[in-house]
Amino acid sequence: MKALVYQGPGKKQWMDVPMPQLANPQDVIVRVDTTTICGTDLHILKGDVPAVQIGRILGHEGVGTISEIGTGVRDFAVGDRVIVSCIKSCGHCVNCRSGLYSHCLGAEGASGIGWVFGHLIDGTQAEYVRVPYADNSLHKLPDGVTDVQAVMLSDILPTGFEIGVLAGQVKPGDVVAVVGAGPVGLAAMMTAGLCGAATVVAIDLDSGRLEQARSFGATDTVTSGTVDWKKQVLALTDGAGVDVAIEAVGLPATFSMAVDIVRPGGHVANVGVHGKAVELHLEELWIRNITISMGLVNANTTPMLLKLVASHKIAAERFATHFFTFEQMQEAYETFSNAATTKALKVVIS
Ligand code: NAD
Ligand code: ZN
Repeated sequence: MKALVYQGPGKKQWMDVPMPQLANPQDVIVRVDTTTICGTDLHILKGDVPAVQIGRILGHEGVGTISEIGTGVRDFAVGDRVIVSCIKSCGHCVNCRSGLYSHCLGAEGASGIGWVFGHLIDGTQAEYVRVPYADNSLHKLPDGVTDVQAVMLSDILPTGFEIGVLAGQVKPGDVVAVVGAGPVGLAAMMTAGLCGAATVVAIDLDSGRLEQARSFGATDTVTSGTVDWKKQVLALTDGAGVDVAIEAVGLPATFSMAVDIVRPGGHVANVGVHGKAVELHLEELWIRNITISMGLVNANTTPMLLKLVASHKIAAERFATHFFTFEQMQEAYETFSNAATTKALKVVIS
C-alpha cells in the first residue's frame, strides 16, 4: 500500500510500504477513505514533538471502513464505517479509567505519553491503518454523517471543545477570547456556545481567518500584532479582561497574549503544542488568581459531538476548504502549510 512516511525533520515521502497486519486480538485494520492534515502534523514534521522515528507513517485523523478484524473485538464488524479517533486507548488501565485516554498505559508497551497515530504508532495518512484497542478507539458512523463531517471529529472538534472550552471552564454568559483562528481555534469558537459563551472574540494575524471565524461563532474579531489589539479586546469587557482566553497557536508570544487579556480570577486554556519553552510568570499570575490548563486531547467527547453533527447542530463540513486525492498528498501538505495564501482550513484527502 501507499503511505506518507516521516523521513526526518522537514522530510516526508508518499511511498510503498507493507500492508499493516493485525498484531493483537483487539486490533482492526481500517481502509482509510478520508484523512486530513492537522497543525500538529506540521509540529511533528518540524521535530517539535519528541520521539517520532524515521519510517513512521504520519497522520492522526481519519474515517474509513473496517477491512479486517481481530478475534477479541466486540463492537465492530468488517464493513463498518468508522471514525478513527486520534487517540488510541485500552479503556482499562488506571489512566483510561479516569478518562485520561491520551495517557493510556495499554499492554502494547506504550509509553503513556499519548498514543497519537502518526507519532508513536503508524498513522492515517495511508491507504490502510492498524487500530489497536478498536472497541475503545473507533466510533461507528451513523447514516447521514458524511466522511468530510466525520473526519473533523477525529481530532479538531474534540480538541477545541475539551482542551479549550471544557478545560477553560466556559460558563453561561462568559466572554471567551480565542487566540488563533486555525481549525482548532475555530473548533473552540464553534463549541463555546455549547457551554453558554455570550461573546466569542477571535484573534488572528490573518484577516481571511478572522473573516472565516464569524461563520464559526465568533461575535467579534481582533487583528493580532496591531498596536491596540489588547485595547480592542479589553474594550469588549469594559476593561475587565475576558473570562476565558484559549491559546490555539502554540507560540510563546500567543501564550503571553492569552495571559495578558484574561480577567482576575479568569482561565487561560492552552491548546497549542509548543515547540519552544514558554515563559510562565507565576510571580505576576498569582496575584491575579489566574488558572492555567493545558494538555493533550483525550477525545472522550467525540460520541457526544458526533450526535450534534448528526442532528445538524454542528456544521462540521464547514472546516473543509480544499479536496485532494491520496496521490496528491504532498500538494495537500503544501496547501495546508501555506494557509495565509491558499486560505485553506482543513484539506480533505480521499
Ligand atoms: P494552524 O497552524 O492551522 O492555525 C494556527 C493559527 O494561528 C493560524 O490561523 C495563524 O494565522 C494563527 N497565528 C499564528 N501566529 C499568531 C499570532 N501571533 N497571533 C494570533 N494568531 C496567530 O493550526 P491548528 O491546526 O488550528 O492547530 C492549532 C494548535 O493546536 C497547534 O499548535 C496544534 O499543534 C495544536 N493542537 C493541540 C492538540 C492538543 O491535544 N492539545 C490537538 C490538536 C492540535
Ligand atoms: Zn491533530
